[in-house]
Amino acid sequence: MIVTHTIDETRQRRAALGTVALVPTMGALHAGHLSLVRRAKQLADHVAVSIFVNPTQFAPHEDFEKYPRPIESDLAKCRAEGVDLVFNPTVDELYPPAVGAIELSVPELAQTLEGEFRPHFFGGVCRVVAKLLNVVRPDVACFGQKDYQQLRVIEAMTAGLCLPIRIEPCPTVRDDDGLALSSRNAYLDDKQRKRGLSLSMALAEAERAIADGETDPDEVEGAMRRVMATHDVRVDYAAVRHSKTLKPLDLINLALEPVVCLVAAHVDRVRLIDNRVVAAE
Ligand code: AMP
Repeated sequence: MIVTHTIDETRQRRAALGTVALVPTMGALHAGHLSLVRRAKQLADHVAVSIFVNPTQFAPHEDFEKYPRPIESDLAKCRAEGVDLVFNPTVDELYPPAVGAIELSVPELAQTLEGEFRPHFFGGVCRVVAKLLNVVRPDVACFGQKDYQQLRVIEAMTAGLCLPIRIEPCPTVRDDDGLALSSRNAYLDDKQRKRGLSLSMALAEAERAIADGETDPDEVEGAMRRVMATHDVRVDYAAVRHSKTLKPLDLINLALEPVVCLVAAHVDRVRLIDNRVVAAE
């Protein structure tokens, strides 16, 4: 497995490979990330993983400094999965201090939901993903549905910039009890973890209500909020949206419009997100 830290070396190494599928990550790899790697292997001759904790997607009060960075165990996991290339740049390599800031945005998709509560977030994500795609030039890049809005934003950015790269959505990997895997779950103790389960419980409740014929998005959102409130988590949003445009719905009608339910909530100081696509039978 090749490990690179600079753009030049990454480009040289990549040029020697055939088709490449890229899995961009911030490291602290778990089974969710590794499922993307396995999907990537099916899609191209070679798999590249980027490991980079991207400062521009964190607000000053967020956890950039204490975000886990277990690079040696991450590399061992990549090696065990048969990854061909790991790109692990420094901040200065991807954001050269001598180069002024650049901005990229997909306002129609990015200003709502996460964008309301983390206004800096998608600007940072777009910037780093555009750089990573441009350095590695993969044929395909895999993104998790766990970060549903992010996936939609990246799809739109890639299409909007006319990049010849396919974006592959990959299903959310969960623990047996339903908690979506996340590097931030490491911050939770046992009691907090149980409270964190209320996000997936709220989504299950939403799906049940819709299956039972509830058509009012406000009712479904209220039901999700109640589940999370009972577990003492502070809700940022509990939303029922069109699954492609992320726009609010007047009425839920699965035969006419695909629906996604999305939640974000704080278990004490740990912020969790989750979602569930609700499809017509
Ligand atoms: P991160 O390291 O959190 O930036 O995530 C890197 C990639 O892994 C993103 O495309 C995420 O959506 C994806 N990912 C994170 N958690 C999961 C999960 N539980 N299941 C599937 N994909 C995930």
